[in-house]
Amino acid sequence: MLYQSTRNKNLTATGPEAILQGIAPDGGLYMIPDFSAVSLDWKSLLELDTIPMAAKILQALLPDFTPEEMEELAKKAYCGKFESDDLTPLAKVGDRYVLELFRGPTSAFKDVALSMLPQLMTASRGKTGMKEEIVILTATSGDTGKAALEGFHDVEGIRIIVFFPKDGVSAVQKAQMVTQEGNNVLVTAIKGNFDDAQTGVKKTFAAAAADPSKLKGIELSSANSINIGRLAPQVVYYFKAYADLVREGAIAIGDEVSYVVPTGNFGDILAGYFAKKLGLPVKKFICASNENKVLTDFLNEGLYDRKRPFYKTTSPSMDILVSSNLERLLFMMSDGNDELVASLMKQLNEEGSYRVPAEMLNKIQKEFSAGFCGDQQTAETIARVWKDYGYLMDTHTAVAWAVSEEYKKEASEPVIVLSTASPFKFPHAVLEALGEEPAADEFDCLDRLSALSGLPIPKNLAGLKTATVRFDHAIEKDALVEYVFEQANK
Ligand SMILES: *Cc1c(COP(=O)(O)O)cnc(C)c1O
Repeated sequence: MLYQSTRNKNLTATGPEAILQGIAPDGGLYMIPDFSAVSLDWKSLLELDTIPMAAKILQALLPDFTPEEMEELAKKAYCGKFESDDLTPLAKVGDRYVLELFRGPTSAFKDVALSMLPQLMTASRGKTGMKEEIVILTATSGDTGKAALEGFHDVEGIRIIVFFPKDGVSAVQKAQMVTQEGNNVLVTAIKGNFDDAQTGVKKTFAAAAADPSKLKGIELSSANSINIGRLAPQVVYYFKAYADLVREGAIAIGDEVSYVVPTGNFGDILAGYFAKKLGLPVKKFICASNENKVLTDFLNEGLYDRKRPFYKTTSPSMDILVSSNLERLLFMMSDGNDELVASLMKQLNEEGSYRVPAEMLNKIQKEFSAGFCGDQQTAETIARVWKDYGYLMDTHTAVAWAVSEEYKKEASEPVIVLSTASPFKFPHAVLEALGEEPAADEFDCLDRLSALSGLPIPKNLAGLKTATVRFDHAIEKDALVEYVFEQANK
């Protein structure tokens, strides 16, 4: 199978090439050309344990790897790294289900993909015979950075540079990143927001593509969800949650379910739509945003407009105004109209907005609906779910739960809310939501939250307070491109 750039279908790459490049040379994103040609018997997946299930799905999406190779990679990626072997447990909470994606090594859902990506990348290097060293550039709104560092530290032949918004991540998130160990890692703050970091990274890719002499013996790649190798592992838990419901007898095979997804860069929810394209019976995907509701407006009205105020919210991993993976959805919903996608992306770049044709909007709305939730409602939701069900959720999950409320009123099918972070990653906001006076120090909040809830602090977070800070460098947002060239060539 050859992947195609969303902006020019003639620009193709094998799976391993697409994974190594991260982004297509024209700035487009690599896409599966035709889902109906992907060979996968989804019903037989439902009987498998999560790790073999992951291997089957990933092999179908990346057929350059043999089934045996993929099984080996999935085992290396996941065995013993998560709290349980099923990786992503499903909890029943009231009349809904919560899919807990945060039980990995850094307590955020990005662990599911970023445990696998280094395996895929290393194996792809082997397959393509690549000799150059890879430098992974990662822009993070808080969680990707740490999950990527954890996945890539000390991986041979690969270095990683992470950029995070200086004042845009929680103290726990920051501590997770700046204390990262490993000889091949660099963590740098940007004086700007996540979009500035992401734009800087994209510009660096463009500059390197325009002038290959800028980098010596090095190839750049990405660990963001623009990388297809990052997106593909996220398809798995949609099947896994469905399989759990079948096993419990809550549904029969073939019954529809709906997923509510707390969304930022549109990667997680798009992976769900991939699952549907592979056969999973899904009625609706509900896209949940915080106050930065650019996607709610787009999915309801067809106008994507990033020219709007940027809010710093209590769900910082969703503080995003340019959702990269929407580009892949546009490609799918226009039946691979690369010229249209290229022109919409150009408009977004130059004018800050675009409107999709009415026919395309109709198609999108058959599959997706959307809602948003502000900080106050997020806090109220955390408190209410805790009081009513004794279930403690983080701020991102609470956004999705709040948005699911309206949808649930009408829905007859089971509704699954994706939970993307442990409440202990955002202890300050969660304590405040529970009506407690949070301690000034976020690490004291961890202890307080644990005492209050009776839940243990995840191991990876418990040791942070006393860990040594290795990185305390901040750069101007406009200096990112040059900074990368300087650092990468060191
Ligand atoms: C990254 C992240 C999201 C958003 O996921 P996207 O794939 O960017 O839409 C939601 N919640 C948390 C906790 C995250 O880290």
